[in-house]
Amino acid sequence: MWGRVVRVGQGWDIHRLVAGRALRLGGIGVPSERGLLGHSDGDVVLHAVTDALLGAIAAGDIGQHFPDTDPRYRGIDSGVLLTEVRALAERRGHRIGNVDVTILAERPKLSAHLAAMQERLAELLGIAPAQVGIKAKTAEGLGAIGAGEAIAALAVIAVTARARRRSAARRTKRQPARARRRGA
Ligand SMILES: [Zn+2]
Repeated sequence: MWGRVVRVGQGWDIHRLVAGRALRLGGIGVPSERGLLGHSDGDVVLHAVTDALLGAIAAGDIGQHFPDTDPRYRGIDSGVLLTEVRALAERRGHRIGNVDVTILAERPKLSAHLAAMQERLAELLGIAPAQVGIKAKTAEGLGAIGAGEAIAALAVIAVTARARRRSAARRTKRQPARARRRGA
């Protein structure tokens, strides 16, 4: 029985854009002259979503689970990290309701790639594409993102938690029975 307890989590990430790296965003490859620098594949979208999910289940952050000092995570597909966190959430009895992502990028233009990112995120999270919102905005030329030196991503996620097995009504019915046994 699944209750209606809803928990929300938020995530944020930013990576530097550098020459000589493939650009990975939202679990897909995006044609670009530069890619995101990172110990992993640098996918800011998946990192923001992973942190949001960890936040929703109060399980720390991505750096605690996958330290960038650990050689196992060098160049790793960030989808693997998100899949591990999804499994953790499911083991703890949570189900994902929906996720909403905003990407902040001056370039490349991302509108043509958002549908593919939506599909991939849905696949990674085990939900329908209709449960995944994904938007891209520029920074209007302001700051490091506006200068095309970095890409950032914001994510919020809603999860449900398993309802407590015993309802308050059942507890109040049981208490007198226990009291009677203790008295006997
Ligand atoms: Zn990151």
